[in-house]
Amino acid sequence: MANRLGSEMIEAADALFNKIHAYDPSVDGDKLKRAFIFGMEAHDGQTRASGEPYYIHPIAVANILADMRLDLDTVITALLHDTVEDCDVTLDALGAAFGPNIARLVDGVTKLSRIGLQAGQSSLQAENFRKLLLAMSEDVRVLLVKLADRTHNMNTIDHIPKAEKRTRIARETLEIYAPLAERIGVTNFQHALENAAFGVLQDEMAQTITARLDYMVHESEIIIPMISVELQDVVERGGVECSVSGRLKSPYSIWRKMQRKKVTMDQLSDIMAFRILVPSTADCYQALGSIHAAYPNVMGRFKDYHIDPQAQWLSIASYRGYWAGKSQD
Ligand code: MN
Repeated sequence: MANRLGSEMIEAADALFNKIHAYDPSVDGDKLKRAFIFGMEAHDGQTRASGEPYYIHPIAVANILADMRLDLDTVITALLHDTVEDCDVTLDALGAAFGPNIARLVDGVTKLSRIGLQAGQSSLQAENFRKLLLAMSEDVRVLLVKLADRTHNMNTIDHIPKAEKRTRIARETLEIYAPLAERIGVTNFQHALENAAFGVLQDEMAQTITARLDYMVHESEIIIPMISVELQDVVERGGVECSVSGRLKSPYSIWRKMQRKKVTMDQLSDIMAFRILVPSTADCYQALGSIHAAYPNVMGRFKDYHIDPQAQWLSIASYRGYWAGKSQD
């Protein structure tokens, strides 16, 4: 192998092997190295927008997935995920070299990439796209590779020279891939994608939100401590010890809610969020009871997610004194 790989590539291949071996000692190192060389040779001569060799991208995607302790086939799929789309590699060749499973996974990723290119602008189309993605992805590993692929592309998006292209990719990421990550419950992808995309779109979409928030920070510096003290008092008078923290929501979470509810920032009821920490789950409901008794509850706006009984916390969203109910975001 040594005479076919540069020293940097040998290091990258060894590092990837060691990473997987740490959580899967029975990993087939030979298969991994064959896939590594196969991908490197397929992308030979191609470069990224940064000017670097193209193959650093599949290696980075593979590493993201190995960091998540995914199985060898997922990591190999990551190494090979662009070979059918961007090189002269056929699915038959992949099947012959690595078995039908790898060929099927790479095929799934390739098909997702092709749909991405056809995805339209409106959110209705985006919703259809999300449904389609879920329907056609019988194997969640296809989605995980695609999300890791998008995460690495978003992290390196500054190298793309055209602003319109960066904007289009960031929009697609926010409208399709981040919600998809959220839906399958992989929040590390969701947040990485949201933050990277919002960074790109910040100027265009969030200038007004940020300006308005800057103005409100002033107001919130007075209001948040005031409401926190009052909440603590209400809950403790109900017999539950608690600590309360409040914050102004992030521009991204506000923007997202405006999109979802199709409202302006002024119509949004929860710009500030409060969290009340209590000793037990039962205390959560005791605290909630005290709060409901003290403040009128806006009909239809109260939500009890109760998704994590271990969390033992209750979060109340409010805007200028109007209680909007319990919210987690
Ligand atoms: Mn890719």
